[in-house]
Amino acid sequence: MKIKVNKKILAKNEDFAAANRKFFKKNNILCINMISSPGSGKTTILEKTAKAVKNKINMAIIEGDLYTKLDAERILATGVKAVQIETKGSCHLTAEQITNTLHKLDTDSLDIIVIENVGNLVCPSDFDLGEEIRAVVLSTAEGDDKCRKYPNSFAQADVLLINKIDLVKHLDFDVKKVKRDARKLNKDLKIFEISAKTTQGMNGWFNWLTEPRQ
Ligand code: MG
Ligand code: ZN
Repeated sequence: MKIKVNKKILAKNEDFAAANRKFFKKNNILCINMISSPGSGKTTILEKTAKAVKNKINMAIIEGDLYTKLDAERILATGVKAVQIETKGSCHLTAEQITNTLHKLDTDSLDIIVIENVGNLVCPSDFDLGEEIRAVVLSTAEGDDKCRKYPNSFAQADVLLINKIDLVKHLDFDVKKVKRDARKLNKDLKIFEISAKTTQGMNGWFNWLTEPRQ
């Protein structure tokens, strides 16, 4: 029974995801779905990114959390548009929630929408939001076994941001092993080693994000 229900939920999600994808394409918007565990630094990455690129491109952020508008408030403080989705206990965003949020953004003028998904390396990877690019963030403090433990999140990503790279000297985190594991799952994965806090490596990410596509 459980499988049947899940299939139905996912089929409904696919319909909304397809509509979102069509909308982004029609409006020439690059949509990025950012996935990670809680505390990996997604919001800090997005705060720094917003500040760095806001004069070059028009960007908006959709924040997903179980509760609070704290993350959207952090983005808004940078001067970049942000909308919060509070899932009220659900551990992932759905494509329908994105559909229902797009009208809150001035999409005519937008180049990029980044969706910060709910912090969770498990089920967000099952829910296509209609994005063109999926980004996964792994911070060094979480340990270097995560690609093996949560392969779906890494296999489906286009880009991996290894965050808190400034802490690596204090930790048993083997960067080479992580890159090897990640590329075993996904040979085309683009990988950046960054520290959102110190800004180490962030320019490469900013440049990649804003480079002309297609
Ligand atoms: Mg956050
Ligand atoms: Zn979930």
